[in-house]
Amino acid sequence: MKIFELNGLKSTLEKSKNIVIVAHKNPDGDAVGSSLGLSLLLKEVFNNKNIQVVLPNRFPEFLEWLPKQEQILFFDQNNSEAKKSINNADLIFTLDFNSFGRTGEMSQELEQSKADFVMIDHHQQPDDYAKFSFSDTSIGSTCEMIYLTIQHLGYEKFLTKEVGECIYTGIMTDTGSFKFSSTSSQTHRIIADLIDLGVENSKIHQNTFDNNSLSRLQLMGIAMNNLKVIAEKNAAYITLSQEELDLNDFKKGDTEGFVNYALSLKGINLAVIFIENKSEGIIKISLRSIGDIDVNTLARKYFNGGGHQNAAGGRSELSMSETITKFEKILTDEF
Ligand code: 5GP
Ligand code: MN
Repeated sequence: MKIFELNGLKSTLEKSKNIVIVAHKNPDGDAVGSSLGLSLLLKEVFNNKNIQVVLPNRFPEFLEWLPKQEQILFFDQNNSEAKKSINNADLIFTLDFNSFGRTGEMSQELEQSKADFVMIDHHQQPDDYAKFSFSDTSIGSTCEMIYLTIQHLGYEKFLTKEVGECIYTGIMTDTGSFKFSSTSSQTHRIIADLIDLGVENSKIHQNTFDNNSLSRLQLMGIAMNNLKVIAEKNAAYITLSQEELDLNDFKKGDTEGFVNYALSLKGINLAVIFIENKSEGIIKISLRSIGDIDVNTLARKYFNGGGHQNAAGGRSELSMSETITKFEKILTDEF
């Protein structure tokens, strides 16, 4: 699905005084990279506007090196300031999601807003709230779409190294460091442009991925120990209980990428990780697949979630063992 309806965005941008940029809850590298990158770019283009990134909650520590990340407001921590920004906005960019519900508590504020909305996103089945939309499920990251949008608007000359670092990060994390099938020649051309801009690619990989804590690696050890293979269904899954997380000093982002190890098993084309979150009373679920197995549909149908064909997420309000039983039944029914 491709929608490219950005006609008139440039003149609306020029007229807007208060611009807010939001992304989804539990923001990942693509969500933070796209929102921060766009905000830094717009600040280069215009020096007389209020441009504010508002994220529903904090991002993982491994993204804390991103330039100017301290300018971001978090709806849960800076609630009144964040609400004020959203209420005063005349233009709101919604990045890396396409349904207000993906912003959690913040969705109420967005629904009430009188601002014009811009959607730039690569997830399936977009809602219809945006006046300006760029929605394309074939593109690997929202950051790649931000770069294309900058080109469309003719703002290339305002690209700085810092904007490039943000965009590079989101492309890198959402393409699994340029290995997923969504990585195209266009992706690599954009990456080449960013390197020409002065972006130090190797440093970004190191800053993001080579900053592990010992407790994270030990938690990974537990996750790999808990890995179960259902060979006849070519599936594998990992569980992590709240107790296991607590014993290993769990911090947001620590489990990022664990599910990919399950998918890397020979012969496995469906991998899932179930992570208990006692404070929210849910099991958070991440699904990954290879080829035609559509985990977006599985996540929507069974786990109140969604995402992409080969990478999706959702939640279960059952206990861990009930959730696993449900998952095993889904495997029997669907595969
Ligand atoms: P992850 O498993 O890494 O959290 O997310 C994989 C993909 O699924 C991402 O594109 C993410 O935006 C999407 N996703 C994760 N959790 C949810 C969810 O609860 N609902 C929906 N609709 N999408 C999700
Ligand atoms: Mn994304």
